[in-house]
Amino acid sequence: MKSKVFDVCVVGGGPAGSTAATLIAMSGYRVLLIEKESLPVYKIGESLLPATVHGVCPLLGVSEDLLRANFVKKNGGTFRWGRAKEPWTFAFAESSKFPGPTSFAYQVERIKFDTILLDNARRKGVEVCEQTQAQDLVVEDGRVVGVNILERSGTDSRVSCKYVVDACGHSSRIAKQAGVRTYSERFRNVAVFGYFLDGGRLPAPNAGNIFSVAFAKGWCWYIPLSPTLTSVGVVIDKEYASVFHQGPRKAFESLISECSEIKNLLTSSRPCDRPPYDEIRIRQEYSYCHSQFWSPGLVIVGDAACFIDPVFSSGVHLATYSALLAARSINTRLRGELTEERAFAEFDARYRREYKLFHDFLCAFYDVDQDLDSYYWTARHLMSEEVPYREALVTLVGGNASSDLIIADSTERLERQMLSEQLFPAAMGVTSDMYLESSGRTGAGRQFWRELNREGTQLQIQSALKGCDTHERPLLLDGLVASADGLYWESNGKNR
Ligand SMILES: Cc1cc2nc3c(=O)[nH]c(=O)nc-3n(C[C@H](O)[C@H](O)[C@H](O)COP(=O)(O)OP(=O)(O)OC[C@H]3O[C@@H](n4cnc5c(N)ncnc54)[C@H](O)[C@@H]3O)c2cc1C
Repeated sequence: MKSKVFDVCVVGGGPAGSTAATLIAMSGYRVLLIEKESLPVYKIGESLLPATVHGVCPLLGVSEDLLRANFVKKNGGTFRWGRAKEPWTFAFAESSKFPGPTSFAYQVERIKFDTILLDNARRKGVEVCEQTQAQDLVVEDGRVVGVNILERSGTDSRVSCKYVVDACGHSSRIAKQAGVRTYSERFRNVAVFGYFLDGGRLPAPNAGNIFSVAFAKGWCWYIPLSPTLTSVGVVIDKEYASVFHQGPRKAFESLISECSEIKNLLTSSRPCDRPPYDEIRIRQEYSYCHSQFWSPGLVIVGDAACFIDPVFSSGVHLATYSALLAARSINTRLRGELTEERAFAEFDARYRREYKLFHDFLCAFYDVDQDLDSYYWTARHLMSEEVPYREALVTLVGGNASSDLIIADSTERLERQMLSEQLFPAAMGVTSDMYLESSGRTGAGRQFWRELNREGTQLQIQSALKGCDTHERPLLLDGLVASADGLYWESNGKNR
């Protein structure tokens, strides 16, 4: 590390840290990201949502990298849950908030996904130091002004900065500077998970879906990570934790044998024997929320701030969404605009709103003695939107309940505007056919969709539309809106 003075120091190189660091560096500020490990490193959290893939990732400029990685395409979720005896499926395409080519997500090997995001952060100008650990925060007059770190060489040193972003994940120790973590009384579960080769697949078009199956002691997930590799996990209530006395692998096998749908899919499979997928891992106490998400000079994002049960795969979405919101608030303050209170109140309120939607929906969903209709109605009630009730569930669990992230309907308007104003040259080079799948679109429309998802295009569009009708209304009463380039907050054009 050449200099020890930065605008922002981001602690943690997971999805939350890489996202925040990239979006702040893209605004021209000096950003240091420190990560205690050396990537690639194993992580759980493999099933993504469209809001991440089509909302945050295009802003970061990694859409092409994700395509090249050949991740399994996830069209939706399949569940054997509630009173329904047979599995039922929802497709992201059922929601108007995930139109055309945005109606899918990916199942990712996190060792690959996290590396893509961190490499991209480096390319966008972030100074990344791996094997470098945050020890504690430097606080002066109640404000966080830096971080004490342990460098790879074993040297202790101090980094000074205007803001620290805590993206340390569930093991964060620096978040305690701003409040306390409260563990959920409702979700006191234990998860045990491992990997199989040559497991079966659901029939097309659901082969890439996450398959979640409730059984007497909890539920299982089944996530296809490649044509041959499958992630399998079992989540049980703590009251059944005595099963672990026989050791993790035996407990895992015995729990799977109690869940017939998953057992059947694994009939011809074998446990994966290749690192890092050869271990059976256990996680517990992972549902919690921090009392404060920011304090002067400090912002807490991703798992460091909160996490809730993984049944709807919301972790990486909440991590990257909160990082985007935090980056906007930090960029706004570094530009000298708005008060700190106003800029971070927007981050806090939007983040809590999204977390609460997943939390409250999960509370209802965990009541497995319900008809499918009841889950749909709950989702619609929580979203308070006049949309068909089935669509409400798909929109909520796809991560676009706030309609402030994914391009969706605003994209339709942008499409018309961009085409009518001929803001794109007719022939732009493309490298992938994936976005051609927007059936029913005109040739020009397909071109638009391809371009829309290309690296950097999001920002070009936003700046090309400067001065045009902005597409976002305040989400909150008297709230702020994202700037035209998506990187900071504005208050109806008057940033005071
Ligand atoms: C059982 C289970 C299943 C899950 N399944 C899913 C799923 O299917 N889909 C999904 O989206 N999410 C899932 N999640 C959640 C997902 O794992 C997390 O929400 C996500 O990884 C959070 O990202 P993050 O960037 O906040 O934290 P992390 O990915 O944990 O990254 C934090 C980083 O900070 C680094 N770090 C920590 N302390 C320090 C320090 N002092 N100094 C420097 N670096 C530090 C760590 O090494 C790490 O790389 C699941 C979680 C659990 C428990």
